[in-house]
Amino acid sequence: MYPAPFRYHRPASLGEAIQMLSALGESAKPLAGGQTLIPILKLRMDEPTDLVDITHLPDLRHTVERDGWIEIGALSPHGWVAKSDIAASIPIVKDCAGGIADVQVRSRGTIGGSISAADPSGDWPTLLRTLDAEVLCSGPDGNRAIPVQDFNTAAYTTALAVGELVVGVRFKRPRAGSAGSYIAYKKSAAAFPVCSVGIQLTLDPGSVCRDVRIVLGGVGPTARRAMQAEAELRGKTLSDSLWARAADAASAIAEPNSDARGTAEFKHSLLRGLLLKSAHTAMYRCANASIEGSHVYG
Ligand SMILES: Cc1cc2nc3c(=O)[nH]c(=O)nc-3n(C[C@H](O)[C@H](O)[C@H](O)COP(=O)(O)OP(=O)(O)OC[C@H]3O[C@@H](n4cnc5c(N)ncnc54)[C@H](O)[C@@H]3O)c2cc1C
Repeated sequence: MYPAPFRYHRPASLGEAIQMLSALGESAKPLAGGQTLIPILKLRMDEPTDLVDITHLPDLRHTVERDGWIEIGALSPHGWVAKSDIAASIPIVKDCAGGIADVQVRSRGTIGGSISAADPSGDWPTLLRTLDAEVLCSGPDGNRAIPVQDFNTAAYTTALAVGELVVGVRFKRPRAGSAGSYIAYKKSAAAFPVCSVGIQLTLDPGSVCRDVRIVLGGVGPTARRAMQAEAELRGKTLSDSLWARAADAASAIAEPNSDARGTAEFKHSLLRGLLLKSAHTAMYRCANASIEGSHVYG
């Protein structure tokens, strides 16, 4: 199907894009990589009157590290992030960016578009919550940084105001002794995850868990932090049985639907398996082992 007619705009600067979007109002949409928006338009699931193409805006495709924060520009494509220095030094970022969809989608789709689309199964929202990230926004009322858990307010819904754009995300570089792992289960490369798990772990000598964050994707309207699972681990010497208890606690807060990708029961069991796999990778990485993360394909 062809999209419904729309007017196309190509602003030359971020300021001009914000001005246009504010003036055009809610019936206008920013267009980034188009990997979500174009299929939606072609299916006529949305019929915006105006598309504001932000793809060519300067200065929004970058990774920068300053004052302890790592910032990734909104227009950075997934595949580009996967090959960045940041991904090389923080493997959990590469786990996520390098596993999104296929080469075609990874080379066009952007991190800003992905979190703005707010798909409950999206990889970036889960990963960014694992890293306790903030979303950097710029709009008619100025700039603001929104904690990622407050940015995705419901499935396919964000806290963005009319005319406001995501300009980047930022998170603190994990400290020494801390490492993470992100794993998603997918039916094929060109499909969203059925569910996913991100773990960021900080170990003291003797495999004692100083701190841990565990976040689940695809098992509710937004990425979900498994705080009871974290409490099972914090301050204790890690063991297989302790991780199994954490996996059960994580499964208890998951609310997956039964659908074409599997029954709810299957997804609960899948989630536990992904958590244990991710835990092992994170533990090895805490010990400075270099392990390639990879998603699991069904
Ligand atoms: C076949 C296929 C497989 C996929 N598999 C996966 C997968 O495994 N995992 C995964 O996470 N994703 C997957 N995706 C989605 C993909 O990651 C998209 O890149 C992403 O969801 C949207 O990014 P985009 O840059 O293409 O945004 P667009 O499609 O251009 O925009 C998406 C939405 O965000 C808005 N928007 C875009 N940029 C901004 C901004 N800077 N500020 C405010 N609003 C903005 C748009 O108006 C639109 O509503 C898949 C997509 C396809 C087509």
